[in-house]
Amino acid sequence: MSGAPRVVVVGAGPAGSAAAAALASEGADVLLLEAKGEPGERPHCSGILGERAWEALPVRQSSWITNEIREATFSSPSGIDLVVRAGGRRLALVVDRPAVDRGLARAAVSEGVDLITGARFLGLRGGRAVYSEGGAVSEEEFDYLVGADGAASTVRRASGLGGIPVEVGVNLVGGEGGPSGSYRVRVRSGSRFSWLQPSGGGFKAGALGGPGDPVVRWAAEEAPGRWREIQAGAIPAGMPRRLSVGRVVLVGDAAGQVKPISRGGVYWGVSAAKMAAEAIMSNWRDGKGLDSYERMWRSAFGLELRVGRALRRALDSSSPREIDSLFRGLAGVEGELSLGFDVDEQVLSAVRAVGVRGIFEVAASSPRIAARALLWALAGV
Ligand SMILES: Cc1cc2nc3c(=O)[nH]c(=O)nc-3n(C[C@H](O)[C@H](O)[C@H](O)COP(=O)(O)OP(=O)(O)OC[C@H]3O[C@@H](n4cnc5c(N)ncnc54)[C@H](O)[C@@H]3O)c2cc1C
Repeated sequence: MSGAPRVVVVGAGPAGSAAAAALASEGADVLLLEAKGEPGERPHCSGILGERAWEALPVRQSSWITNEIREATFSSPSGIDLVVRAGGRRLALVVDRPAVDRGLARAAVSEGVDLITGARFLGLRGGRAVYSEGGAVSEEEFDYLVGADGAASTVRRASGLGGIPVEVGVNLVGGEGGPSGSYRVRVRSGSRFSWLQPSGGGFKAGALGGPGDPVVRWAAEEAPGRWREIQAGAIPAGMPRRLSVGRVVLVGDAAGQVKPISRGGVYWGVSAAKMAAEAIMSNWRDGKGLDSYERMWRSAFGLELRVGRALRRALDSSSPREIDSLFRGLAGVEGELSLGFDVDEQVLSAVRAVGVRGIFEVAASSPRIAARALLWALAGV
């Protein structure tokens, strides 16, 4: 087709702003709708990014980095510790999420994106996007609609791709007394966990779990001091059956694109946004199918997703004693993990770091978890 496609992007989180910027830089005419008064308002994220996630952001400012993490301690339910020391390298960065969201939205605007804040997408009517803004309801024609509106995505439901299961994550934010340069994760039940991390000069004590889990209590047990604010959000625990349908494309949490073990979503979301933009533009120019987006995404992250989901499912059906045994096995390969563990590719980097012999040693320490994980991986859960 000739001319520029009209694209409506819903949600100015990292995935939506990255998609909008990439589309506008390729010549699309982009309207970005954000329900909040300002991108980044009312954050809930821990802001932990690996190096690749940081590099994947379409723009970066060093002032967004509040802390660097060089050591992580993972504790089993009965307190067996696995310490990953990154040595000279940074294991992860902690970023100021509101600043990142504002910065990415600003970058999209400087690419020519038309951003409307306080604008809530309501649904589809006659092939047009319907949204409310300041009490008025408007309709917008589009060639493509990008749903980047988070785990509870309205775009996903309006386009017939339905709901996805979610977990809940909380952070208790304290002004002082955070650990400096280190991160602590405690397995609570199955694959659910709590954590303590630095956040600026203070801390975030958090937890994630299913709807019935006492996540606030778990988080409070991590807090080293008084906390002044509680932040909470939904975390996708599954993906829709497709990432696109008709002229609608989903990215980020709306598409369930979070890492299966830590559930961090910024890296996969911004990476998917660029792939979605590429697929949209080649669909517009050459008529190539939008499903190239899903192929690109699966080729980049499908293996990590598949193995990670299998491991997570195996953990979710394991007893605390079985998880303790797994930690004893992992303690035997602590040195290898310290050298090779990558926050952005948690499962495959760990597998590569410990090698075949390490995998057999860890599997021998917890044969039931290993057998379940293998079966789930082969079944392609
Ligand atoms: C407690 C907690 C800690 C986390 N920690 C990390 C971490 O350390 N690292 C990491 O990588 N990830 C982390 N995550 C996950 C991360 O926050 C998400 O994966 C990430 O924000 C997803 O980005 P997104 O752009 O897809 O969606 P979001 O950031 O959720 O952005 C969606 C945007 O859409 C807007 N919106 C929603 N509905 C509408 C509508 N109808 N109309 C218009 N706008 C709408 C919202 O206001 C929002 O601005 C954490 C999550 C939680 C809950």
